[in-house]
Amino acid sequence: ATMPPLLSAIALAGRHGVLVKSAVVMERLADTDLVVFDKTGTLTEGTPRVAEIHPTPGGRHDVGSLLRLAAAAEHPSEHPLAGALLAAAQERGLDLPPAHDFVATPGRGVEATVAGHRVRVGSPALLDGPTADEAGVRDVVDRVQAQGRTAVVVVVDDRTAGVLALADRARPAAATAVAALTALTGTRPALLTGDNAGAAGRLAAETGIGEAHAGLLPADKVDRVRAHQHAGRRVLLVGDGVNDAPALAAADTGVAMGRHGSDLALRTADAVLVRDDLAALPALVSLARRARRLVV
Ligand code: ADP
Ligand code: MG
Repeated sequence: ATMPPLLSAIALAGRHGVLVKSAVVMERLADTDLVVFDKTGTLTEGTPRVAEIHPTPGGRHDVGSLLRLAAAAEHPSEHPLAGALLAAAQERGLDLPPAHDFVATPGRGVEATVAGHRVRVGSPALLDGPTADEAGVRDVVDRVQAQGRTAVVVVVDDRTAGVLALADRARPAAATAVAALTALTGTRPALLTGDNAGAAGRLAAETGIGEAHAGLLPADKVDRVRAHQHAGRRVLLVGDGVNDAPALAAADTGVAMGRHGSDLALRTADAVLVRDDLAALPALVSLARRARRLVV
């Protein structure tokens, strides 16, 4: 006996490295007319490296002590930026004190107590809070972001201790996948990120993305998805992070990155790119459409 078309489409998707969780998902995928990507870890490789370390001039930290505290605070985090800090600390042979009272705020950063200091590591939004812009830190952040890099601010005991510049690369398959999805849906994919506008704009230009929105918290990503849905779009959202989980749930179909994806993203998504291969996305939408033509 032959398999029903939706089931054989699921089996075929599996061969492309996509785990589709149900036949209903396969049906909905066929209607996709807008693809929305997360940036860090989704369109980018998600293995950023620390490119520059700028301790606050006249502050208490040098490059080594700044990196040591920041990496120690990130140790419990599963965010790609945390991995970059840990790798940089390891390269320099720094031994990291344990982190206590760790708190992660998706889309913003982390904080923990390290060697008796309260250490916060995260987006430049940290500078908008009670922490003043000290010693021209804002200028360093602006310069880093203008280069298309991610600026991470380190605050120690409520004093701005320094800025790290992190560089990530577009996945090699990103531009081709974006072009194929543009051809399939008739619309250029969009980009939603918690990172800064400089990094978002640069990656969008590099990969052929249509519109890019930066500085978004998890709930802002949901708002963007809903706005497209209210405009009549059927949205396929691709993401990897804890910060993407609400948007993955809100989208018509949510697709998680299997290797880089956080547990929450994997559980929330309707389908998983098992090998993080973006080239499987256009193949998946095509398959879903073909399966529907057979189900009448
Ligand atoms: P994206 O939406 O591109 O996947 P995220 O929402 O995960 O990005 O992160 C957005 C921004 O929040 C980062 O660019 C960074 O400034 C900050 N951030 C989030 N998590 C961390 C972390 N663990 N360490 C440092 N910064 C973080
Ligand atoms: Mg991400």
